[in-house]
Amino acid sequence: MASSSRNTPSLATRSVHADDPINHITDVAPPIHVSSTFRYTEDPSKLQPESEIDPATHFAAPGGAIKPDAHIYSRLTAPNTSRLETLLSSLLGAPCLTYGSGLAAFHALLTWLNPKVVAIGAGYHGCHGVLKIYQKLTKCKIVDLFDESTWGELGEGDVVHLETPLNPTGKAFNVQYFADMAHKRGAVLTVDATFAPPPLLDPFKFGADFVMHSGTKYFGGHSDMLCGVIAVKPGKEKDYWGMFNERVFLGSVMGSLEGWLGVRSLRTLELRVMRQSENATKLVQWISESLEKGEDFGVVQKLEHASLQKEDMGWLKEQMPNGYGPVFSLWMKTEELAKCLPSKLNFFHHATSLGGVESLIEWRRMSDDTVEGTLLRVSVGIESWEDLKTDFLEGFKALAAEKK
Ligand SMILES: *Cc1c(COP(=O)(O)O)cnc(C)c1O
Repeated sequence: MASSSRNTPSLATRSVHADDPINHITDVAPPIHVSSTFRYTEDPSKLQPESEIDPATHFAAPGGAIKPDAHIYSRLTAPNTSRLETLLSSLLGAPCLTYGSGLAAFHALLTWLNPKVVAIGAGYHGCHGVLKIYQKLTKCKIVDLFDESTWGELGEGDVVHLETPLNPTGKAFNVQYFADMAHKRGAVLTVDATFAPPPLLDPFKFGADFVMHSGTKYFGGHSDMLCGVIAVKPGKEKDYWGMFNERVFLGSVMGSLEGWLGVRSLRTLELRVMRQSENATKLVQWISESLEKGEDFGVVQKLEHASLQKEDMGWLKEQMPNGYGPVFSLWMKTEELAKCLPSKLNFFHHATSLGGVESLIEWRRMSDDTVEGTLLRVSVGIESWEDLKTDFLEGFKALAAEKK
């Protein structure tokens, strides 16, 4: 028993130990390395100019386990970030590259894949911003993923980009369905799974070719670092090393201190994400059951979250067996109410972003002008869910009282 569980440790164990093989010092807590440059070997016979280096052998195998003596310059690799990539590669089950932000990662992915047509749906507005820059340079065609009549445009080497669950609503989409659609046309499926980090969703199980995350959100988890992640489907080594080589010239690597923060953060990934997911689902259940009973607190119009997609449960339960994303959206009866609710809450900061240990709420118009003015996006943290529920209840009451 003991040996089999040692061979296949769980996610929680891997987030603490997957970097052990590259820990060659006696420190238990990971050290902080800030050097931008690293000494070459002292043996002149072993000097190898960069132009002659094959990254796949110099920096070690895909999986992100960079040899400790392989570092040259921190635009290529650096110790804290390589350690973070080693952990991420284990947790996502695929070799991972990190970038300075989620959008830098998406930009690197488009640059590498170089599609003529990109199918993309609603979703995080920033990814649409990146795509417009890519379109400016390449004249690529952008089609609506959720309009089936456009799929005929897709061909060999094109990109189908699916965000699931969707920002800002938390609605989930069927990864396998879009993977089959893309592959039938010779296109690749890229999945932005920021809203459902492990252990909530593994898009590779359902046909994804590339998975991206804004590591700023759940991987960072403490609202203190920017990070982007691209995981490349196992077996696509050419793509992994291609993106590795292009990142050297794009220059969009993480800062070393962020790499260190990321390792610190991943240790508690499973604890945080499971708690956040449970909290969110309980809050959503409470509000939606209230609405069903005709109790709208005088101010709430509707809400959306994957846990409410009853008609989709066939595939959704299989796709997200451990729980749903910790973000949901709440529509208030008027724009004014949506603007005011954050000021009535004690345990939700009114701020953008998501995924941190602290609960956030955002009148979403503040950062995304494509959404309705009545929409509030809620990112549920690790607090006690009963306290969050009471906070909402008091906030709703205060708003309703003001309305009278
Ligand atoms: C935040 C976010 C991004 C962008 O990530 P940054 O780290 O802010 O660049 C991309 N996709 C989704 C779904 C996000 O929520």
